[in-house]
Amino acid sequence: MSVMIDTQETTQEDLHNGRSPWGLQHSPPQRRRLTDSMTTEVLIIGGGITGSLLAEHLVARGHEVTLIDSEQPGLGSTAASTAMLQWEIDQPLHRLSELYGFDAAAEIYRKSFSAVQGLTRLVADSGIDCQFSPRATLYIAADGVDHRVLQAESALRARAGLPGEFVDGAHLQAHFDLRRDGAILSPGSADADPLLLAWGLLHRAERAGLRLIDAKAELFDADSRRVAVEMADGRVIEARHVVLATGYIMPDFVKTELHSTVSSWALATVPQAPKGLWPGRPLVWEASEDYHYMRSTADGRIVIGGEDDDTQDPDERARKTAQKRDRLLQVLGELRPEANRQVTHAWAGAFGTTQDGLPLIGAVPGHSRIFAAYGYGGNGITFSYMASRMLAAEIAGKREAWFDGFALDRPVPE
Ligand SMILES: Cc1cc2nc3c(=O)[nH]c(=O)nc-3n(C[C@H](O)[C@H](O)[C@H](O)COP(=O)(O)OP(=O)(O)OC[C@H]3O[C@@H](n4cnc5c(N)ncnc54)[C@H](O)[C@@H]3O)c2cc1C
Repeated sequence: MSVMIDTQETTQEDLHNGRSPWGLQHSPPQRRRLTDSMTTEVLIIGGGITGSLLAEHLVARGHEVTLIDSEQPGLGSTAASTAMLQWEIDQPLHRLSELYGFDAAAEIYRKSFSAVQGLTRLVADSGIDCQFSPRATLYIAADGVDHRVLQAESALRARAGLPGEFVDGAHLQAHFDLRRDGAILSPGSADADPLLLAWGLLHRAERAGLRLIDAKAELFDADSRRVAVEMADGRVIEARHVVLATGYIMPDFVKTELHSTVSSWALATVPQAPKGLWPGRPLVWEASEDYHYMRSTADGRIVIGGEDDDTQDPDERARKTAQKRDRLLQVLGELRPEANRQVTHAWAGAFGTTQDGLPLIGAVPGHSRIFAAYGYGGNGITFSYMASRMLAAEIAGKREAWFDGFALDRPVPE
């Protein structure tokens, strides 16, 4: 079979507008030119956080790996991420249980928890300097989701063996200086500079043998033994396995009805005086469906985001940035009146979601040697880590039953 990768000329510029505070004063890894056609064991297409995690892991396991990106690695959606590295999935456990049953939903939550712990160990063991900080999270009451809903969700999480506790409004105010009806306080998440994380992983993988190449994949020709990928300049890379880690630039032959793209906005303030930040600096996110969230950075800025809507056009997304920024500042004023609300960075990006809030990871239906690694939603990076471990297992022929929950052709109940 032969299939085109229909990128519709989408570039990184279409994925986000404005500049985030990540990666300042650092430079990206250098890609080599593709001077001739070549062969490799594994070809990864895309050098954002997903491709970087996978490349680092596969090379460490002794695979021969080539990663291509047609633009600067990391400067796609990864640079736009606010990088709250959470194990709590956008879809609350009670809702995921309604869809797939409690046991399956609890298993997915536990895998997500393990993924953040795995990522934490990886950063610690590798010494990658990406301002990684382990954090607790506060999942706070918001529009239509009061303390009773949070208490029930907290009890369900405890039944699933997940850590955390419900805290009431008085506790929230006394310990975190936040005024809401209640929250679930959970350990085990983290934050980081996502660009430095991706670049650090690529540097590490390159030192261990990764070939990092500047090329754009356009045409796939696959049979049962190998996949030949033709680049925009006509050269061909032939691989035993291909992994698509192209972020929201999803080839047509992978597209599924499960997935849709919206836009999301974020801003960063100036570094705060100590009183501008909340005690302990947990990641804060609202329990409502359209949620706002905030975190702090290593240099004491507040990053606040949300305001998602279904804007698709990059120009329209850019036009809306001033209005969305004002709204985010209003929410910041309400959540943290003591904060200095002077903005240094405001940006927006394409944000992929799926009907059930779970990622798309696994073999592309009908193409056993082409894998997809699309970790979407508010914990896209946690899912990227999961994708790297799952696909390494797939490539080694060690598929596990629970991978079915993330399959590209999974049926999603209404
Ligand atoms: C505003 C915003 C806030 C977010 N906040 C969070 C958060 O707090 N926590 C979290 O976990 N996630 C968050 N996310 C989601 C997270 O950013 C994404 O899940 C993640 O960055 C996706 O990384 P990726 O590597 O899959 O894609 P990308 O970073 O987009 O990388 C894909 C790469 O593929 C390359 N490419 C595409 N097509 C081709 C081709 N044909 N040939 C060669 N190269 C190609 C591109 O140039 C690009 O470099 C947020 C996203 C946005 C927009």
